[in-house]
Amino acid sequence: VVVQARGHWWDLTQAAAQDPEDGGAIRCDLDGWLRAGRLQAAVLDALLDRADRAGRLAALRCEGPPKAVALPVRPGKIICIGRNYAAHAQETGHTPPKEPIFFAKAPSACIADGEPVLVQAEWGQIDHEAELAVVIGRRARDVAAAAAQDYIAGYTLLNDVTAREMQQTDIERGHPWFRSKSLDTFCPMGPVLVLPDEMPWPVEVDISLTVNGAVRQESNTRQFLFTIPEVLAYVTRFLTLEPGDVIATGTPEGIGPVRPGDTMEVRIPEIGVLRTPVAAR
Ligand code: MG
Repeated sequence: VVVQARGHWWDLTQAAAQDPEDGGAIRCDLDGWLRAGRLQAAVLDALLDRADRAGRLAALRCEGPPKAVALPVRPGKIICIGRNYAAHAQETGHTPPKEPIFFAKAPSACIADGEPVLVQAEWGQIDHEAELAVVIGRRARDVAAAAAQDYIAGYTLLNDVTAREMQQTDIERGHPWFRSKSLDTFCPMGPVLVLPDEMPWPVEVDISLTVNGAVRQESNTRQFLFTIPEVLAYVTRFLTLEPGDVIATGTPEGIGPVRPGDTMEVRIPEIGVLRTPVAAR
């Protein structure tokens, strides 16, 4: 576990292992820290403060994030919100929904920053969908919108890659569209988890997606039809969210096709860039 804070990157696994007051999960990965409720600015700050007082801080500095590709979290489930921007609902021929629409994406589809989305010609058109992802930090059921922030571990970027023709065919047949959203590699996620104290609240941030450097999607999450608290309150009326679960908050207008050889980049300045090449499977 490494964290960017105070202008540098720090090795928190080492910090915890050396800390006499920290009885925590020394060998845990980021997922383990999240599930143990330790991914909080106050906990991480206290670790660094105690290392500083003990003269151990300088040794904890690292050059940057780990070189190995890694997911910020391994979700138990991924809940996607459909048509959460009015302009995107309109571009797909729908009227903006009166209440949130949600569906699932298989966690086995997740890939890390830099890994390729793999496509097959017979799947037809493959579309990008830039989304802000909310990572759940506490077990959540019947959450009041006013308390929603207490259940959020942090934020990351997600590309809700979709086999559009497969989705349309399945909808026309009256079938679920799960497979078109859940093909292996169709859920790039990352590159980092940003804690809530480093994001504005309400979360109103610029979001964009480029293909080979050309802007395809550009919006701001203040355009959400349903805010993050409203979505959390709505979803948890029906099912329990667990630590590590991910809510993909919907995509703005400008979705479009990608082909092998293309490179997609999802960008939210407060989080970073999620870079995903497309290749033939
Ligand atoms: Mg989507």
